[in-house]
Amino acid sequence: MKAGVVNPGHKDSARLIEMDMPVISSGQALVRLLELGIDGTDIEINRGEYGGAPPDSDFIVLGHEAVGQIENPGTTKLGEGDLVVPLVRRPDGCVNCRSGRPDMCIEGNYRECGIRNAHGFLREYLAEKPDFLVPVPKELRTIAVLAEPTSIATKGMEQAIEFHNRSDNPINIAVVLGAGPLGLLTTALLKLHDFNTYTLDIVPRSSLKAQLVESIGANYIDGKESPVMSLPDKMGNLDLIMEATGNSTVAFHAMSALGTNGILCLMGVSTGQKPLEINASCLNMQMVLGNKMVFGTVSSNRGHFERALKSLAIMERNWPGWLSRLITRRLTLDMFRDALYPAPDTIKTVIELM
Ligand code: BGC
Ligand code: ZN
Repeated sequence: MKAGVVNPGHKDSARLIEMDMPVISSGQALVRLLELGIDGTDIEINRGEYGGAPPDSDFIVLGHEAVGQIENPGTTKLGEGDLVVPLVRRPDGCVNCRSGRPDMCIEGNYRECGIRNAHGFLREYLAEKPDFLVPVPKELRTIAVLAEPTSIATKGMEQAIEFHNRSDNPINIAVVLGAGPLGLLTTALLKLHDFNTYTLDIVPRSSLKAQLVESIGANYIDGKESPVMSLPDKMGNLDLIMEATGNSTVAFHAMSALGTNGILCLMGVSTGQKPLEINASCLNMQMVLGNKMVFGTVSSNRGHFERALKSLAIMERNWPGWLSRLITRRLTLDMFRDALYPAPDTIKTVIELM
């Protein structure tokens, strides 16, 4: 079978290779992978800035946002033809991993398929246990490729709301930073909660990203006209900020802009070096006197995937066709390298594996 691989730590090493077909061992099903979404993490891995190969290999099969179909259920209870989305993070033996929450792994010896120490899903076939396969209703066939990024947004938003609930004032204003796939999916989740939502990016108002924000009833903010730091003066108390740019400078500006009793959720992994001068005393004082909370969130567990799939179904019902508009480019597996050098107006690239 064909697979798209990279050598972690090496820049621009993405290439297509021939690999042996996986053989299912006891308890595993054979999955025919159908589609795979490419995200910023894949691009960072191909830049040599992030990720690691499995111990017995110098390359890693890329890809962690997949949907597939059961081709051979083996001895599992899955049915032939069932749609599934594979989980990304695989547990180590720690207390959280053992209780089904590898997204909160405490030991740090987890593996992440397509990212760290385990092969990913940019290939034609996968042998996997049902424990790591989330069933997908047939009607979600065309949008299930968005389940993984939606699961990340789901975890971040659920935690942010839970933390906000430590005070009694409502979330009057929710701000999303970044209108890439993660920012847009987060915007949609916040709108499902009926929050007054503002999404900031630095693209023009006429761009598809801005249109996608506004078409579900959120407000687009042009960050070139209104940078993050200027928002409190213009909008008032920012109760909830979801950072989805992965730009560490933006993350620190968001800390300053955060309102009283506010919650800032950081969702973007930032690589490289970016020194920044901050007035630490001022920031510390604002955080303390304002009861503010900043937290990071990574990965997602089975529950987040299941709730993400439910939310995707509701989004499709509320805003028919909106999710498909996020997928601005479709490429065959042979062309997958192009996805790692996206044009500025690309939102989500999906690789067709079948
Ligand atoms: C993936 C997560 C993963 C994180 C850190 C993200 O792109 O969606 O599943 O935990 O990268 O490796
Ligand atoms: Zn663990």
